[in-house]
Amino acid sequence: MSEQQQLNSPPLQAKSPFELRVNLGRGVPESDVRTALATGDMGFLHSFTTGSTVDGPGVRVVAWTTGCQFRCVYCHNPDTWTLSNGIPVTISKAIEQLGRYRAGLKIMSGGFTLSGGEPLMQDRFAVKLFTAAKEMGIHTALDSNGSLGDRLSDAELDTIDLVLLDIKCWDAERHRQVTGMEVGPVLGFARRLADRKKPVWLRYVLVPGLTDDPEHISRLASFAAGLGTVERVDVLPFHQMGRFKWKELKLNYTLNDFQPPTGDAVEHACAQFRAQGLEVF
Ligand code: SF4
Repeated sequence: MSEQQQLNSPPLQAKSPFELRVNLGRGVPESDVRTALATGDMGFLHSFTTGSTVDGPGVRVVAWTTGCQFRCVYCHNPDTWTLSNGIPVTISKAIEQLGRYRAGLKIMSGGFTLSGGEPLMQDRFAVKLFTAAKEMGIHTALDSNGSLGDRLSDAELDTIDLVLLDIKCWDAERHRQVTGMEVGPVLGFARRLADRKKPVWLRYVLVPGLTDDPEHISRLASFAAGLGTVERVDVLPFHQMGRFKWKELKLNYTLNDFQPPTGDAVEHACAQFRAQGLEVF
């Protein structure tokens, strides 16, 4: 990245991940990107945000990575799909940034959450950040679509206190339709987390006409309850806040006519998870 490009970059800290950010890492040579991915000495971040109370317990600092292999039709941050849209950040700078919040996070019983994009697209960078956070005594959470969990060894998983696992749909065909990818590895990762007694918060985006099939939700709820490690379920109502990004990026957005779920529909989905004995928020 040239000096001029660095000067033109927005700050790493953003008010929210809804800020549209593109092409911020385009100046990094391909060979440097490959080295970064292999070593984790440099990562690509959409932004850092502070003050989140929904991405893990307490108040959180969240680092949003770029790069995702899913193509969720309702994704509200499609600018995070492409690695090179992120700001190149050395691991030492990312750790230094995190260290600034260390004392405050402890006071607010919070921690650090790595989200995206899909953070495990940059698995070596993620491991280094989580290891450093643990060394600083900071609670760690990974927000992931779960499909790349095999990239982490058991020892590396131990640097993560909590996994926010986004399961997009129980049904294999619908999952493919929603994300373009298979659900099998996601469910496999969920089982592995359960075997290792790793706490999980399950996240489920409710889109009327797409992910609201009661049979699919019921089977997912039963699966989640059977894991024994799901501490809470967040049913997240679909919204249109990311639509402008699809337009700006000239992507084909297919949910223009989709409405957010009604309060009753959200409550019905929540009740299906509660019926399996799960805590729902
Ligand atoms: S997994 Fe997340 S970041 Fe990736 S496409 Fe889906 S919603 Fe977007």
